[in-house]
Amino acid sequence: MSITPQLRIAPGTEWLPDAEQPLIIAGPCSAETLEQVMATARQVAKIPGVTVFRAGIWKPRTRPNGFEGIGVEGLQWLRQVKEETGLKTAIEVANATHVYEALKHGVDILWIGARTTVNPFSVQEIANALRGVDVPVWVKNPVNPDLNLWIGALERLSDAGVQRLGAIHRGFSTYNKNGYRNPPMWNLAIDLMAKVPDLPVICDPSHICGNRELIHKVSQRAFDLAMNGVMIETHIDPDNALSDANQQLTPARLAEILGELQFRRPGGDLSDPEAVLADMRHEIDETDQELLEIMRRRTEIVARIGKLKRDHHMTILQVSRWKQLLEDRLQRGNRIGLEEDFVEDIFRVIHERSIKMQSEVMNQ
Ligand code: PEP
Ligand code: MN
Repeated sequence: MSITPQLRIAPGTEWLPDAEQPLIIAGPCSAETLEQVMATARQVAKIPGVTVFRAGIWKPRTRPNGFEGIGVEGLQWLRQVKEETGLKTAIEVANATHVYEALKHGVDILWIGARTTVNPFSVQEIANALRGVDVPVWVKNPVNPDLNLWIGALERLSDAGVQRLGAIHRGFSTYNKNGYRNPPMWNLAIDLMAKVPDLPVICDPSHICGNRELIHKVSQRAFDLAMNGVMIETHIDPDNALSDANQQLTPARLAEILGELQFRRPGGDLSDPEAVLADMRHEIDETDQELLEIMRRRTEIVARIGKLKRDHHMTILQVSRWKQLLEDRLQRGNRIGLEEDFVEDIFRVIHERSIKMQSEVMNQ
């Protein structure tokens, strides 16, 4: 992955709250009725820190016959939200008509949904529709964990002249969900932040979690990773929502969670954070050196085993040995306070690599 994205990004503070404040976007998954939108917006507007109201107008549903959004009519309701509460408004756009209607009705912020980011034709259509328009556009990650596709969508918008760009991390669709609706795979978002340091990135814990219980934890993680804000689905009556009922919060619960979250900045409140960190990083560097040497020693043993198996016509994999090894390492890890899933992940990678090395030896 060697691409270096060339994005022109407007400085954040002109259109984001300043760096000391997170951007907080709240509102329902879908705009359903005028009453539901206004009742939610009035409550949400009272919560300190919330500055933007979200609502889905056109809804991409995985299966047909669900609620597919109220359509253009809902855009009038959002205008009313703006006028009455002073909140800015944000909606998802998936094609040029959506862009046209959103701009015509004075929507302040557009976002591209995960199912659209995967499709370069759709993203290009949206980018073309935005030529010459100065509106903030946030790009959700594609449903599949492909960083280049995410960056590609940002580049298409940047090439069309959109400068108030941002990214929304909403997790990735995977077969193995580990309790999430869309597991966060934080490393992908971290890679994006590393490749495009000026790009504001916010987190959408609602679509990561798929349930209310995890929202607090995932939002805190996003702040701990120096993300610039959160977008959290909030509904006046979540249980009866027409879409994503399980993951929406009441405004009261949102207020509680936001009150408890710690918004941290990279430098924290230390006057010279780099100096304090330098010592600890030195320790980490030394420890990693030891780790690398241990791994090199292990690969040498693996190579010897590979040769022995080759010379004596043995299979590379002996399932019973692998099962017993993994169980043993989990127990050993447990005894010294290492979490099981961490130890398991490490040994799966090590084992996979060891099989690859041995098959190379076999075929020499
Ligand atoms: C949404 O924000 O309601 C939505 C459909 O999200 P995503 O594109 O992340 O699935
Ligand atoms: Mn939703």
